[in-house]
Amino acid sequence: MADDQHNLPSPYSTGLAGRCPRCGEGKLFDGFLKVRPRCSACGLDFSFADSADGPAVFIMLIAGFAVLGSALYVEIAYEPPIWVHMMIWLPLAVIVCLALLRPMKGLAVSLQYANKAQEGRLDKSEPER
Ligand SMILES: [Zn+2]
Repeated sequence: MADDQHNLPSPYSTGLAGRCPRCGEGKLFDGFLKVRPRCSACGLDFSFADSADGPAVFIMLIAGFAVLGSALYVEIAYEPPIWVHMMIWLPLAVIVCLALLRPMKGLAVSLQYANKAQEGRLDKSEPER
Protein backbone atom coordinates (compact mmCIF):
# COMPACT_ATOMS: atom_id res chain seq x y z
CA MET A 1 0.00 0.00 0.00
CA ALA A 2 1.39 3.38 -0.93
CA ASP A 3 2.08 5.96 1.74
CA ASP A 4 -0.54 8.35 0.49
CA GLN A 5 -3.22 5.76 1.23
CA HIS A 6 -2.68 5.96 5.01
CA ASN A 7 -3.85 9.52 5.59
CA LEU A 8 -6.70 9.68 3.13
CA PRO A 9 -9.76 11.62 4.22
CA SER A 10 -12.90 9.52 4.52
CA PRO A 11 -14.15 8.59 1.04
CA TYR A 12 -17.69 9.16 2.33
CA SER A 13 -17.15 12.76 3.44
CA THR A 14 -15.09 13.72 0.38
CA GLY A 15 -17.33 11.86 -2.04
CA LEU A 16 -20.62 13.19 -0.76
CA ALA A 17 -19.17 16.72 -0.69
CA GLY A 18 -17.78 16.40 -4.24
CA ARG A 19 -14.16 16.87 -3.13
CA CYS A 20 -10.91 15.27 -4.24
CA PRO A 21 -10.58 11.78 -2.70
CA ARG A 22 -6.86 12.26 -1.96
CA CYS A 23 -6.63 15.73 -0.39
CA GLY A 24 -10.29 16.52 0.38
CA GLU A 25 -9.70 20.11 -0.75
CA GLY A 26 -9.93 20.37 -4.53
CA LYS A 27 -13.22 20.10 -6.33
CA LEU A 28 -14.07 16.84 -8.06
CA PHE A 29 -16.67 18.13 -10.47
CA ASP A 30 -16.55 20.61 -13.32
CA GLY A 31 -20.19 21.51 -13.79
CA PHE A 32 -22.99 19.28 -12.53
CA LEU A 33 -21.64 15.79 -13.17
CA LYS A 34 -18.51 16.15 -15.32
CA VAL A 35 -15.38 15.04 -13.46
CA ARG A 36 -12.44 17.46 -13.70
CA PRO A 37 -9.27 16.22 -15.41
CA ARG A 38 -7.26 16.66 -12.21
CA CYS A 39 -7.49 18.04 -8.69
CA SER A 40 -6.91 21.80 -8.49
CA ALA A 41 -5.36 21.49 -5.02
CA CYS A 42 -3.12 18.39 -5.10
CA GLY A 43 -3.00 17.61 -8.82
CA LEU A 44 -4.40 14.07 -8.55
CA ASP A 45 -5.22 12.76 -12.02
CA PHE A 46 -8.93 11.93 -12.06
CA SER A 47 -8.67 9.80 -15.22
CA PHE A 48 -9.19 6.69 -13.05
CA ALA A 49 -12.70 7.90 -12.25
CA ASP A 50 -15.27 5.88 -14.12
CA SER A 51 -18.36 5.34 -12.03
CA ALA A 52 -20.37 4.16 -15.07
CA ASP A 53 -23.91 3.13 -14.05
CA GLY A 54 -23.10 2.51 -10.39
CA PRO A 55 -24.60 5.71 -8.94
CA ALA A 56 -27.71 5.45 -11.13
CA VAL A 57 -28.49 1.98 -9.85
CA PHE A 58 -28.34 3.07 -6.21
CA ILE A 59 -30.36 6.20 -6.92
CA MET A 60 -33.06 4.20 -8.69
CA LEU A 61 -33.27 1.85 -5.72
CA ILE A 62 -33.30 4.62 -3.10
CA ALA A 63 -35.62 7.00 -4.95
CA GLY A 64 -37.88 4.18 -6.09
CA PHE A 65 -38.25 2.87 -2.57
CA ALA A 66 -38.84 6.31 -1.01
CA VAL A 67 -41.13 7.81 -3.66
CA LEU A 68 -43.12 4.69 -4.48
CA GLY A 69 -43.44 3.81 -0.81
CA SER A 70 -44.74 7.29 -0.05
CA ALA A 71 -47.15 7.17 -2.98
CA LEU A 72 -48.52 3.82 -1.85
CA TYR A 73 -48.96 5.09 1.68
CA VAL A 74 -50.82 8.22 0.52
CA GLU A 75 -53.03 6.16 -1.80
CA ILE A 76 -53.97 3.72 0.95
CA ALA A 77 -54.39 6.36 3.66
CA TYR A 78 -56.12 9.17 1.73
CA GLU A 79 -57.20 7.77 -1.67
CA PRO A 80 -56.61 11.07 -3.52
CA PRO A 81 -57.50 11.41 -7.24
CA ILE A 82 -54.84 10.32 -9.73
CA TRP A 83 -53.93 13.91 -10.71
CA VAL A 84 -52.85 14.57 -7.12
CA HIS A 85 -50.47 11.64 -7.36
CA MET A 86 -49.11 12.96 -10.67
CA MET A 87 -48.63 16.46 -9.24
CA ILE A 88 -46.76 15.19 -6.18
CA TRP A 89 -44.80 12.10 -7.11
CA LEU A 90 -43.54 12.79 -10.63
CA PRO A 91 -41.78 16.05 -9.71
CA LEU A 92 -40.63 14.58 -6.42
CA ALA A 93 -39.06 11.59 -8.20
CA VAL A 94 -37.17 13.92 -10.55
CA ILE A 95 -36.02 16.15 -7.68
CA VAL A 96 -34.87 13.24 -5.52
CA CYS A 97 -32.94 11.65 -8.41
CA LEU A 98 -31.23 14.90 -9.41
CA ALA A 99 -30.40 15.74 -5.80
CA LEU A 100 -28.77 12.35 -5.26
CA LEU A 101 -26.85 12.12 -8.55
CA ARG A 102 -23.88 14.31 -7.70
CA PRO A 103 -23.22 13.05 -4.15
CA MET A 104 -23.59 9.44 -5.28
CA LYS A 105 -21.24 9.90 -8.22
CA GLY A 106 -18.74 11.63 -5.94
CA LEU A 107 -19.04 8.78 -3.48
CA ALA A 108 -18.51 6.21 -6.23
CA VAL A 109 -15.37 8.00 -7.46
CA SER A 110 -14.00 8.40 -3.92
CA LEU A 111 -14.59 4.75 -3.12
CA GLN A 112 -12.93 3.82 -6.42
CA TYR A 113 -9.87 5.78 -5.36
CA ALA A 114 -9.82 4.53 -1.76
CA ASN A 115 -10.20 0.91 -2.85
CA LYS A 116 -7.96 1.23 -5.90
CA ALA A 117 -10.75 -0.09 -8.09
CA GLN A 118 -9.70 0.47 -11.67
CA GLU A 119 -9.45 -1.42 -14.90
CA GLY A 120 -6.05 -2.36 -16.24
CA ARG A 121 -3.70 -0.76 -13.68
CA LEU A 122 -3.00 -1.98 -10.19
CA ASP A 123 -1.13 1.09 -8.92
CA LYS A 124 -2.90 4.30 -9.87
CA SER A 125 -0.93 6.48 -7.48
CA GLU A 126 1.85 6.67 -10.08
CA PRO A 127 1.34 8.38 -13.42
CA GLU A 128 0.71 6.01 -16.29
CA ARG A 129 3.64 5.87 -18.75
ZN1 LIG B 1 -6.70 16.74 -4.40
